[in-house]
Amino acid sequence: MNFKSIPSEFEYLSWPEVKNISKEKRSTIIWPFGAVEQHGPHLPLATDSIFVDEIICEVLKLIPSETPIKKLPTQYIGFSPEHKGFDGTISLSSNLITLMIKEVGSQLADMGFKRLVLINAHGGQISLLNTAARELRSIAPKLSVFPCFLWSGVDGLSELLTKKEIENGLHASLAETSLMMALKSDLVGEERPFEEIEKQIPEGWSLEGNAPTAWFTDDLSKSGVIGDSRGSNKELGITLKTLLTNHWYNMINNLMQSDWPK
Ligand SMILES: [Zn+2]
Repeated sequence: MNFKSIPSEFEYLSWPEVKNISKEKRSTIIWPFGAVEQHGPHLPLATDSIFVDEIICEVLKLIPSETPIKKLPTQYIGFSPEHKGFDGTISLSSNLITLMIKEVGSQLADMGFKRLVLINAHGGQISLLNTAARELRSIAPKLSVFPCFLWSGVDGLSELLTKKEIENGLHASLAETSLMMALKSDLVGEERPFEEIEKQIPEGWSLEGNAPTAWFTDDLSKSGVIGDSRGSNKELGITLKTLLTNHWYNMINNLMQSDWPK
């Protein structure tokens, strides 16, 4: 006889299981967000989606299955207008993504879920998810919403990556190429482009950060890579995978032990 285990994927639960879990005091849904957008000639379109999906699945393996946290299917297609100059990029409008988050989130709140974590791996939609989270909170005030970025707040990155790579959230360069080599090496091509960006930006201005520009990738890059992918290696990727997994395990663990919101 087979005994059913409790899966960590929301969509594999039965409705009575959802009913029981949602009622728990700390019931939480984690919803990964990625993108389907060009990532240079050497990485797949779904790079961000694969990263967030793989890391969150690793994290959930470390969390006891009776913990009331469940993962929604990863949202692969995101908001990527900056990459539209390259084939393969599919982008939804900011209105549609905001509406989707509000509709899904308010239904989860109606079921009784207390917290929703939007964990995102695409740098181009950080502010959009922050705004959507606030809008969702305004229609479902009892649902606590946590819009977060996979690469933010992770200790140890500054020793492994250049300052530029961290500050500008560079695209398809050292960090992303190395991490994909560790996660799915069969999806990584041979090319290792390098695109010098700082010469092109007016002095004092930046891609992200203090004085940003709403850049498009084809302002900066012929290959689609922003930054330097040349030193990418699997060992670095394995270290990044460990850092990201440990960080998000700690964050989720802290959340599951907290009664926030009161
Ligand atoms: Zn990316």
